[in-house]
Amino acid sequence: MPINFLTTPIDYLNGVGPARADLLRKELGITNYGDLANFFPNRYVDRTKFHKIGQLVPEAAQVQVIGRLISIGTAGAGKATRLVATLADDSGRMELVWFKGQKFFKDSLKTNEVYVVYGKVSRYGSMYSIAHPDIELLKEFKGRQHTAMTPIYPSTEQLVKRKLTNQYFVRLMRQLYSEIKSAFFETLPDDLMRDQQLMSKNEAMHQIHFPSSNKALQQAMKRLKFEELFFIQMELLLQNRIRKTKIKSYAFETVGDHFHNFYNYNLPFELTGAQKRVVKEIRADMANGSHMNRLLQGDVGSGKTIVAVLTCLLAIDNGFQACIMAPTEILAQQHYAGVSELLAPTGLNVSLLTGSVKTKDRRVIHEELEDGSLNILIGTHALIEDKVKFQNLGVAIVDEQHRFGVAQRAKLWKKNDFPPHVLVMTATPIPRTLAMSLYGDLDISIIDELPPGRKEIQTVHRYDKDRLRVFKFIKDEIAKGRQVYIVYPLIQESETLDYKDLMDGYESIVREFPNPQYQVSIVHGQMKPDDKDYEMQRFVKGETQIMVATTVIEVGVNVPNASVMIIESAERFGLSQLHQLRGRVGRGADQSYCILMTSHKLSAEAKTRLETMVRTTDGFEIAEVDLKLRGPGDIMGTRQSGVMELRIADIVKDNELLAQARNAAIKFLNEDPSIGLDKHQSVRRVMNHLQNKKGLWKYIS
Ligand code: ADP
Ligand code: MG
Repeated sequence: MPINFLTTPIDYLNGVGPARADLLRKELGITNYGDLANFFPNRYVDRTKFHKIGQLVPEAAQVQVIGRLISIGTAGAGKATRLVATLADDSGRMELVWFKGQKFFKDSLKTNEVYVVYGKVSRYGSMYSIAHPDIELLKEFKGRQHTAMTPIYPSTEQLVKRKLTNQYFVRLMRQLYSEIKSAFFETLPDDLMRDQQLMSKNEAMHQIHFPSSNKALQQAMKRLKFEELFFIQMELLLQNRIRKTKIKSYAFETVGDHFHNFYNYNLPFELTGAQKRVVKEIRADMANGSHMNRLLQGDVGSGKTIVAVLTCLLAIDNGFQACIMAPTEILAQQHYAGVSELLAPTGLNVSLLTGSVKTKDRRVIHEELEDGSLNILIGTHALIEDKVKFQNLGVAIVDEQHRFGVAQRAKLWKKNDFPPHVLVMTATPIPRTLAMSLYGDLDISIIDELPPGRKEIQTVHRYDKDRLRVFKFIKDEIAKGRQVYIVYPLIQESETLDYKDLMDGYESIVREFPNPQYQVSIVHGQMKPDDKDYEMQRFVKGETQIMVATTVIEVGVNVPNASVMIIESAERFGLSQLHQLRGRVGRGADQSYCILMTSHKLSAEAKTRLETMVRTTDGFEIAEVDLKLRGPGDIMGTRQSGVMELRIADIVKDNELLAQARNAAIKFLNEDPSIGLDKHQSVRRVMNHLQNKKGLWKYIS
C-alpha cells in the first residue's frame, strides 16, 4: 500500500545518513518519506537569468548576480554588528550583509573567488545590498542544471550551518520521487474535484517540487491549498456540531420580568436593528439547552454594552448569575458605572471586583456570590481567581477579549457543573468567513450598524511642523465647550523613553494651555490606580478640558463630550489600535475630529496605515487592511486554532479559496453528515486520522 511506503523512515533514503536524518527530524519535523514529500518550497526562482550590478534598480525584487568577492569584514557594534562583504562585477559594486550566522559565512566565504548571489536587493544611499543572500561558488553553480522555476525550500540556521543547502533538498526530492513514484492516494472525492477543477493529488505532489510550467505549478498549489483548507473546515464544522449536540448547558427558556420590564420601561434609547437582531440570536442560542459560545463583533461605539446587559437579564430571569469581564481596571470600572446606572431602576445587585478592591469588600462579594444574592459581577481577571465561587453562573461575558488568553476563558468554565454560556465581545472585527474559519468553535453575531445621529469622525494626518495650527484648532474646540484627548505611544521595550516623551509632551501642553483658563489631566501606566481614577473622573466630569494619556485609554472609555483625539507619533501605532483610539471620540452629537501627528520619516507600511485611517472609519475595512499588513499571526486566538500551522495556504491571501473550501465542506456534510458513503471513504480516512490530532499533512499524504 502506498501509505505504508510513505511511512518509510527518512534514514532509508539515499543521501540521508543518521546525522542528517537527525537534523531533518529536529529542524523540520521530517521523520519519513511522506513528511519529506510534504516539505513544500516556499517560493520559486528563475536561476537562468543574471543581472549586472550597474543596472540594478530600486524596485527590483529578487535578482541573481555573478561577481567577485573583493572584501569581507565585520561592521557596527553591539546588537548592530553585521558581516558585510563587497561583491564586484565589471559594471559596479554592491554589498552583501549577514546579521545571522556571521561566523559561518566569515569562515567559509573566500575573497577573490567568483560567486553566484541571489536575493532581494535594497538600496542604501547609492549602494545596493542584499541581506542574507543565497550564495554559491560559480564553479559549483555551473555543475548543475538551472530552470526558470527552481524551488526554494525553507531553511534554518542549523541547516545552513550543516550545509543542508537548497541544492541538497532539490537533489533529495529527486531521489525521493525516483523511489516513491506515484504513491499518494487521492484524498478528495471525484465530484468535488470536478466541481472545483482540481488537479489530482499525485500530479500536484509532483508539480509542486518539479514544476513543468507556471500554469501547472499554479494548479498544483491551488489543489494543495484547497485540500488543506477543506480538511480544516471539515474539522471545524464537525467540532462545532459536536459542541452543539454534546456540550449541554442551562436552557434559558423564560424571558421574564427583569428582561421585559427593562426592555419596555428602562431602555435609555431605541435599539438599532442590528442590536435587536443579535439579542434575538443570543436569546435563541441560550434557550435550547446546548452551550452558547458566541463572538459578538461590533465596531467601537456600535453599542455592545446594552446587548451585554440584556444578556445578563436573560440569565437572571432564569435564576442564574452573570459576570462581565474586562481587560483593564479602568474599563471594568466604566462598565460597572454604566451597568449600575442602567440597572438602577431594577434593584438588581451589581458589584465590582478588581485587584484594588479592599479585602473587607471582597469578603462581602464572595459571600453574596455564594449565597446567590449577587446578580451581576463585573471585574478584571480578578474574576477568575480560584477564590471566586458563583452559586450558579449562567453566562460569562468577556469584553475586548483579544487581551484574554484562551486558557483564561476556559477557567471561567470550571466554576459550575455545566459550563456557563459564553459571550465574547470584540471591537476588532474581522471578515466573517475568516472569523468563522479562525474560530470555528464560535458562533458569530455582528452589529453592523451604528446608533443613529452619529456624525462621521473627520480624520487628518498632520506633521510636527503643523503643531501650532493644531494647537489653535484645539483652542477653538475647547472654546466651543469640547474636550480633547492627546495620546502618546507606549511601547514596552522602551518604557522610560516613552515616559519621557509623555512628560515632555505634557509640559509643553501645560505651557500652551495655562492655568487657570485651561485644566489638563494626565493618566499613564505608572500611576497608582487611585490617582488614575481621580484624574479620569475629573475628565469625565468635565473639570478638565484636556486629557494627556498613554494608551491606557485605548479601550472602552466613554466621554461623549470629548470630540477631539490627537494621536502623537501615530506612525508607531498599529491600525487596530489607531482605530480603537479614534473610537474614543464621536460618541456625542457633535462633529468629532481625529488628528494623526507624525514626523516626516515614515515607512511605506506606516503610510498605508495613516492613509487607511484618513480614508475610512469602517472597522471591518480597517481590519482587512490590518490583516493584509500584518498577517493573521497577531489575531487573537489564531495560534490555538491551528490555523497557524497551515503548510501551504495563506488564510489572508487565499481568502477566496478559503470561502470555497468552507462552502464545499458544508455541502459535503449536508450530503453525507456521517461521512459514511462509499465514495467518501478517502475523506473518512483523513478525518479519522485527524481526530488523532497528529497534524494534518501526515495524513493527507
Ligand atoms: P461599544 O460597542 O463600543 O462598547 P457602547 O456600548 O459603549 O459601544 O455604546 C457607545 C455609546 O452609544 C454609548 O454612549 C451608548 O449609550 C450609546 N448607544 C448604544 N446603543 C445605542 C442606540 N441604539 N441608540 C443610541 N445610543 C446608543
Ligand atoms: Mg465597549
